[in-house]
Amino acid sequence: MKLLVVEDEALLRHHLQTRLSESGHVVEAVANAEEALYQAQQYNHDLAVVDLGLPGMGGLELIRQLRAEGKTFPILILTARGSWEDKVQGLATGADDYVVKPFQFEELEARLSALLRRSSGFTQPTITAGPLVLDINRKQASLDEQPLALTAFEYRILEYLMRHHQQVVAKDRLMEQLYPDDEERDPNVIEVLVGRLRRKLEGDVGFKPIDTVRGLGYLFTERCR
Ligand code: CA
Repeated sequence: MKLLVVEDEALLRHHLQTRLSESGHVVEAVANAEEALYQAQQYNHDLAVVDLGLPGMGGLELIRQLRAEGKTFPILILTARGSWEDKVQGLATGADDYVVKPFQFEELEARLSALLRRSSGFTQPTITAGPLVLDINRKQASLDEQPLALTAFEYRILEYLMRHHQQVVAKDRLMEQLYPDDEERDPNVIEVLVGRLRRKLEGDVGFKPIDTVRGLGYLFTERCR
């Protein structure tokens, strides 16, 4: 998933970027609200982590503006302030959850996973479509109860398409799931990866859930639950 992290403390920002990238996300980590607004206008994020105490525009105002601009992705507040008023105000402004600093990374990650799952409309930590099951915590796929050997990039594409099942997903969006920078993006890479993914899903069972919608992108045709 593509995450936007807004944290002015350099060490924590670096730590969040590293750990969340290791967990398989593409992370855009910025130090202030102004840069965050710019990133949110340029790219499609799946979730944002917002520190409340920021220099310049504060985190609450940032959340207000993101919501005013129609951004609906889940927002998790990171705050050193432990008072209940701050949490209530944050949630009232449009945030979906909060974690109080100092925090355990495992707790943050569990909350992020839950927010991502719910925002895609799934209540279980697995996504199932016919013979295909994704375990989104372990980042593993299985087909007909046999583990499916996918590369990290193949897995990310599959998870994204399944989360957006029965919707056309543009190639640009898939590229955003793989690379943080525009320069590295090459639509041919997506075609190659989707081609490999299709062959693996077809396997012995003949499962063909990914359609190409010419000029638009890809469509995961099976209903996922
Ligand atoms: Ca701060």
